[in-house]
Amino acid sequence: MTIDLVELSKDLIRCPSITPNEAGAIGILEEKLLSMGFNCRRLPFAEEGMPSVENLYARIGSESPHFCFAGHTDVVPPGDNKDWISPPFEPEVREKFLFGRGAADMKCAIAAMVSAAEMFLKSENKKLQGSISFLITGDEEGPAINGTSKVLEWMEKSGEVIDACIVGEPTNPENLGEMIKIGRRGSMNIELRVEGIQGHSAYPHLADNPIHRLINMMTGLIATPLDGGSEFFQPSDIQVTTFDVGNLATNVIPARAEARCNVRFNDLHSSDSLIKVIRDRLDATGIAYNLNVRVSGESFLTKPGLLSTITSESVNALTGIEPVLSTAGGTSDARFIKEHCPVVEFGLCNETAHKANECVRIDDIFTLAEIYENILVRYFSEKS
Ligand SMILES: [Zn+2]
Repeated sequence: MTIDLVELSKDLIRCPSITPNEAGAIGILEEKLLSMGFNCRRLPFAEEGMPSVENLYARIGSESPHFCFAGHTDVVPPGDNKDWISPPFEPEVREKFLFGRGAADMKCAIAAMVSAAEMFLKSENKKLQGSISFLITGDEEGPAINGTSKVLEWMEKSGEVIDACIVGEPTNPENLGEMIKIGRRGSMNIELRVEGIQGHSAYPHLADNPIHRLINMMTGLIATPLDGGSEFFQPSDIQVTTFDVGNLATNVIPARAEARCNVRFNDLHSSDSLIKVIRDRLDATGIAYNLNVRVSGESFLTKPGLLSTITSESVNALTGIEPVLSTAGGTSDARFIKEHCPVVEFGLCNETAHKANECVRIDDIFTLAEIYENILVRYFSEKS
């Protein structure tokens, strides 16, 4: 049985798998992979007061080298259905594009991975020299607590060792083949609070305005760039995302003021070293403050090597484009996988990801499947 790539993509889009709902999507993959001879493990996790999340780990072969395809079947909410030309969970083909929530991010890429594995396994007349696996989570767009990181913990305990991994996030700005992600910046959110004394703005000597001091602190924080960027990364950056006191009155000095910032940082820092830089800058103002930090992920880089080389070569062979090796953009589950093996990200185009009328070029899904298959061919011939 050969996989119908468009039908599999449509079947996945038809599942309204908004995080944390599985909505049948993982079941479809499990069935498909079982029929291809994979050993499948459903791995539901429900810790830390979060809703239960379905995950799937499927492997064929028991030897190394072990190549893993990783991805997520969960999607972000579609927003208002009125903004969609066709309903978000009713896949529709219009003018060579497939529309539906999750088409770009990243159900069609998962379908391409399954098809690539099928083509590869069929074309290998000899026995597979190694293993291929799928690590599929239903919790990437959400808190990402009961998803890939928990599956990786389980794999470690179970002696499942992966040697290389490709994550199928949509990485291309406009055309398939433009961009491979070899790392990501780290991200953290900081919350800064300054206390004052509430009072009448006509009698400022009886009050203590925390806003004035918070302005000085924020100025001290953002005045100097954090760095100038590194070989594969753009400069680290602090963006103030909110600065307010919720003050409804025009004549009241408020008791406290708060600001929040999102910090994206490169491989010149760890979150710890960067928190120290931030504290030093705040301390230098001499103002008392309260700082809360939540780290979403450290930066990481898969140094150009075998995996990025074969991915680039395969992309180039099938698209004629020389892909850029980039570390730009937001975080992904690659941040967990990099602790276990070299990981790169390559998928479809991200122009419409998370938007209404999300769509992908149907030709791109087929080309992506061929690229993934080509990566498998190159990987296993290099490794054996
Ligand atoms: Zn995604």
